[in-house]
Amino acid sequence: MKRLAMIAAVLAIASSAASAQTYAARPITLLVPFAAGGPTDTVARMTAQSMSKLLGQTIIVENATGAGGTIATARAEPGGYTLLIHHIGISTAATLYRKLPYDTKTAFAPIGLVTNAPMTIIARPDLPPNNLAELITYIKANGDKMTFGNAGLGAASHLCGMLFMTAIDKQVLTVPYKGNGPVMNDLIAKQIDLSCDQTTNTTGPIAGKLIKSYAITTNPASPPCPTCPPPTKPA
Ligand code: ASP
Repeated sequence: MKRLAMIAAVLAIASSAASAQTYAARPITLLVPFAAGGPTDTVARMTAQSMSKLLGQTIIVENATGAGGTIATARAEPGGYTLLIHHIGISTAATLYRKLPYDTKTAFAPIGLVTNAPMTIIARPDLPPNNLAELITYIKANGDKMTFGNAGLGAASHLCGMLFMTAIDKQVLTVPYKGNGPVMNDLIAKQIDLSCDQTTNTTGPIAGKLIKSYAITTNPASPPCPTCPPPTKPA
């Protein structure tokens, strides 16, 4: 499986950036394209706290969810007072959505990279397989009855799930949510079978045995999740 990670970055609309002298003269809104309680939301709230201290201004974190993150992206405004935190989905949406109300290549100015988090393949706590090889065998036999939760078309979790299904040559029904916060709740509650999510969101539930984990997309030399299984090369 190819390496796929969530790289979250803060972006602003490209035109008319606020001047350095006056910035930030009023509160800033940081748009989060996914639901509260998920990895992007977690990173956004931590970033907002630090930004707020540095700028001496209030940062309002607003979750504007839906359509794989494109709804929040479409709401970003010029002027530097409405910022957006996003990941790989800002690039992939342009190829997955027929008509976006913005031109991804020219509409935004990157402000900074915030984090680079690996993805983990995870499952409800009572899914029978105990390792990746067993999981693949299990999905091949039972995949028609299984569900794979994700954060919407074009979200990192969606891409990761599709990549995994392509790699094992078996499709599983995908269930789109507004973010990995609600996906995680349903996984823990055994309402869905599988998901693929950033370690930002999965390390705690894996360590607490609230969910099962089968694989991680990261460099074995620097494991960010000691309780996750080591990376496995596909056969
Ligand atoms: N980062 C997640 C994804 O794209 C969504 C979220 O943060 O809730 O899969």
